[in-house]
Amino acid sequence: MAFESLSDRLQATMKKIRGRGKVSEADVKQMTREIRLALLEADVNFKVVKSFVKRVQDRAVGQEVLKSLTPGQQVIKVVQEELTELMGGEQTKLNLALKPPTVLLFVGLQGAGKTTSAAKLANYIRKAHNKKPLMIAADIYRPAAIKQLQTLGGQLNIPVFSLGDQVNPVEIVRQGMEQAKSEHHDLVLIDTAGRLHIDEGLMDELEQIKAVSNPDEVFLVVDAMTGQDAVNVATAFNERLDLTGVIMTKLDGDTRGGAALSIRSVTGTPIKFVGMGEKMDALEPFHPDRMASRILG
Ligand code: GDP
Repeated sequence: MAFESLSDRLQATMKKIRGRGKVSEADVKQMTREIRLALLEADVNFKVVKSFVKRVQDRAVGQEVLKSLTPGQQVIKVVQEELTELMGGEQTKLNLALKPPTVLLFVGLQGAGKTTSAAKLANYIRKAHNKKPLMIAADIYRPAAIKQLQTLGGQLNIPVFSLGDQVNPVEIVRQGMEQAKSEHHDLVLIDTAGRLHIDEGLMDELEQIKAVSNPDEVFLVVDAMTGQDAVNVATAFNERLDLTGVIMTKLDGDTRGGAALSIRSVTGTPIKFVGMGEKMDALEPFHPDRMASRILG
């Protein structure tokens, strides 16, 4: 499972301090040293680690903590709160359009999980918000991407708009939006092409797709297993497309967790959903506080 090693290490550190009736500044120093190493080994961005450790340290040696009746527990509470804050604090809700349709644009590198996540989210929002979705297949470059979306749409009974792979993706999206309006779909999900690397052509095309579809959410789909690369990808996409949210996939794998813990602090973009498997129901809204609790045990 994700975060296993980080979780084990942080839990071992917390255990040492939990029941303490007295905690000294030296104890806090020792604890933060251990936290720092655990985070770095989990591939968390070093700047993020540095500021996290400083905040924990400053708060943990504060008067109200060390002089409290249960200092051990108070120190742990500080770590828990700061870990939650690191991942975005409050859960960030989906932006639904005031005037339908709500349009969700999915971008990211090839293999990150865009097509799968678009279908999962269409299914999730249809149930949670009682919507009538249309998915637009605008990934004309990856062989079989259109077919894959159509297959998933077939399984879920969600229609897919496609013009095959010989029409320009911007034109596909433009016509797809028209169809959505004429057929009264109140939710549109646009699956776009990913490349193996970020390139200018990809970014230009995505900017044009964004302009013709005016999305309520621009979701970057990133694979948690790619660690700090995921953070670099997010930075690059955010500069060009003003991302509104991240969908982090493959958290069911044995990722060390660095991307999940760094991406919000580095890019300012919140994680809104996480992929927890290949099945269509394996997508969850992301709750920073629950994730922090899971990591700290
Ligand atoms: P795309 O190229 O970005 O559209 O990526 P796909 O949607 O085709 O996904 C690539 C692979 O990752 C597929 O085999 C998916 O089943 C798999 N995948 C996507 N999301 C998850 C996830 O959350 N967990 C796991 N284990 N696999 C996933």
